[in-house]
Amino acid sequence: MGRIYGEDVPARPAFPDASGGKKPASGDDSGLLLYIHVPFCRSRCTYCTFHSQSFNQVTFAWYLKRLLDEIRLWGRRLKRPALRTVYFGGGTPSLIPLNNLDQIMKALGKHFAFNPNMETTIEANPDSAHDASYFRGLLSMGFNRLSLGMQSLKDEDLRIMGRPHSVAMTLASYEAARRAGFGNIGLDLIWGLPGQRLKAWMDQLKLVSEMRPEHISAYNLTLEEGAPLTERCSEKGDLTLPQDQEQGRMFVYGAEFLESVGYLHYEVSNFARMGFTSRHNAGYWDGSDYLGLGPSAVSTLGRRRFAVPKYMDEYDAYVRGAMVGDDYEELTDDDLLKEMVMLSLRTGKGLDLKEFRKRAGYDLVKRQEPLITALHRENLVRISQGRLRLTKNGMLVSNVIIRRLAFGE
Ligand code: SF4
Repeated sequence: MGRIYGEDVPARPAFPDASGGKKPASGDDSGLLLYIHVPFCRSRCTYCTFHSQSFNQVTFAWYLKRLLDEIRLWGRRLKRPALRTVYFGGGTPSLIPLNNLDQIMKALGKHFAFNPNMETTIEANPDSAHDASYFRGLLSMGFNRLSLGMQSLKDEDLRIMGRPHSVAMTLASYEAARRAGFGNIGLDLIWGLPGQRLKAWMDQLKLVSEMRPEHISAYNLTLEEGAPLTERCSEKGDLTLPQDQEQGRMFVYGAEFLESVGYLHYEVSNFARMGFTSRHNAGYWDGSDYLGLGPSAVSTLGRRRFAVPKYMDEYDAYVRGAMVGDDYEELTDDDLLKEMVMLSLRTGKGLDLKEFRKRAGYDLVKRQEPLITALHRENLVRISQGRLRLTKNGMLVSNVIIRRLAFGE
């Protein structure tokens, strides 16, 4: 661990040149990925352990001031770098009033250079983003991609998850965003919910696909330690998750269905119509540099990885430079190789074996031959066009395969 900077230290050349004030040309897809973390939610969902707190005007105003300072600080330190993507995630970014979002976008425009093709995403929840004028406001400030937290098309599921919206509100929100002119909408779903059966999940996917969103994210419910839903799904609890075998079918049949209706399965949990993959997330998976602003956001610039402090008082100190610099982790060649395996195997493109050999100095398939042969025999991986890819069955157990391939565990 080391220190990156202190408030009194000028920007150091050791930072990778993140395009150093050059104006990106039209058609150029270079630049940083920028993530802004919005740590506020209306209420706490029962499965969630993310860092967020209740929204109120006073705390929000406090956060906003520090976020604007942080934007200025990093714009200066990186010499007004170009941005390829901006992603407002959370938390619930749609709780931010439009005039304040406008302030943030203007600050970004002042301290960073916008790539003309910049993808600008905001995550929105149906309870806080529901009328066309709100969505028109987002479009007018440059947002061109909406990620809507639908989660389920069944009210009972939403109730179990503690979501503060109903199915009717989600549909109204989607309709309003379309009416306003959003041409790139992603819907987020969760599968493997308590009491959910394969048929109910497939029916739901069919309905969602008929809405023709440009993008669908379908995440398997993860029971996090300490989340209320975890307790309810424990042996002592009143809820039961679908059996593993049924969950396996939900994943494989669900993915095959979405492909059959025109969605590219481009990452374990992500599907997109032609031309609508998330460029921001694809950038993470390709190993591009990213800058994260807001409490708990993580950045990787070159080999340096660091996180903004999670709690508001530490965030204040961080932004004011009162903390003695930031700690960062210097990624080694080995870390980068492992990440390359981990991230690319999650994607539909898979791992470029030639590129791996160039960086690692050895052939992964030769070195891991017994393991890869066994995985191939079990129909969990395949090699084609110089790439190692997970099959759908392989994606289902991606964590285990990736751990064995990348870490030899
Ligand atoms: S809206 Fe998202 S971040 Fe907020 S509590 Fe629910 S799942 Fe967590």
